[in-house]
Amino acid sequence: MGKKHVFNAGPCLLPQVAIDKAIEALKDFKGTGVSLISISHRTKEWDEVMNECRALWKELLNIPDTHEVVFLGGGASLQFLYVAMNFLEKKAAYLETGVWAKKALKEAKGLGDAYALASSADKNYSYIPKGYVIPEDIDYFHITTNNTIYGTEIKEDIDCPVPLIADMSSDIMSRPVDVSKYALIYGGAQKNVGPAGVIFAIVRKDALGKVSRYIPTMLDYRTHIDKLSMFNTPPVFSIYVMYETLKWLKGIGGVEAIHAVNRRKADLLYAEIDRNPLFVGTAAKEDRSDMNVCFVMAPGYEDLQDEFLAFAKEHDMVGIKGHRSVGGFRASIYNACTVEDVQALVDCMQAFEKLKK
Ligand SMILES: *Cc1c(COP(=O)(O)O)cnc(C)c1O
Repeated sequence: MGKKHVFNAGPCLLPQVAIDKAIEALKDFKGTGVSLISISHRTKEWDEVMNECRALWKELLNIPDTHEVVFLGGGASLQFLYVAMNFLEKKAAYLETGVWAKKALKEAKGLGDAYALASSADKNYSYIPKGYVIPEDIDYFHITTNNTIYGTEIKEDIDCPVPLIADMSSDIMSRPVDVSKYALIYGGAQKNVGPAGVIFAIVRKDALGKVSRYIPTMLDYRTHIDKLSMFNTPPVFSIYVMYETLKWLKGIGGVEAIHAVNRRKADLLYAEIDRNPLFVGTAAKEDRSDMNVCFVMAPGYEDLQDEFLAFAKEHDMVGIKGHRSVGGFRASIYNACTVEDVQALVDCMQAFEKLKK
């Protein structure tokens, strides 16, 4: 069996060193003689992990003192509700760029007047809407920076006259972000920074406390900021692997360095999609994601889809089947995916082309 090239969309590839460190900690956490999953989270050793993990987040993303980062359970999907609970008083606008954005909007609709300011549903979310004007009388504007399913991405920190909230589940730590422009950045860890089971939320502290509703204790960001993400038992395993993943990222030069690598990987794969007559990309070129690369068989070659999937599998490619709502193929090339992995996929596409032409 050859080395697998893992392009899973999430959970996804993580750096091998983080996996190895997790295995060690599962056996013996920091020389305590106790497994990571058997320790008390009220110990000095665990506190150190939490504190260092938080410090790594702040350092890697240049998080200013106005903001705090918390780690919670429940998935990004529960954050959709947190957002509305903590920020929606009367009215909020959402940029509808895909299924996740729609799900986020749905939760807000349950709590107030939330609506889609612009949508790309007309073309199956294959582009990012432009030319919309953000009204100034809303509580917040919500965007999904990377649309994991459709392979589109908002790569700039947009100017926003109202508090800006972003679901960055699938592109956090892949490129530099100006955190000061956001009231909240949140996401599940499992797309780029760790295993499933933990979310991150980077909250501007003075943006909280502006709604009049009762916020249940567990759904109130202030609870978790006050208790440094230890109000209740934190998902220790997931946080530990995230911590080791961030240590790895820092060790290779941080977000700027990984961004350069991510740009190279995306350019390499999109260049092949554009060159290879058998394949065609599905996302609008100017909105293409650096994280999730979506493509289908070109017109005239549609019946080769299953054959290419089988061919790719034989050549050790894992997880390139597209999401059912787009079809075709999707290669998720998050931080831990290497230029060599992407080159292997490109080679595979070229080998398939030779076979067929
Ligand atoms: C995967 C994903 C989610 C959902 O995350 P869960 O942790 O499974 O709830 C939300 N938003 C985006 C952009 C995603 O990619």
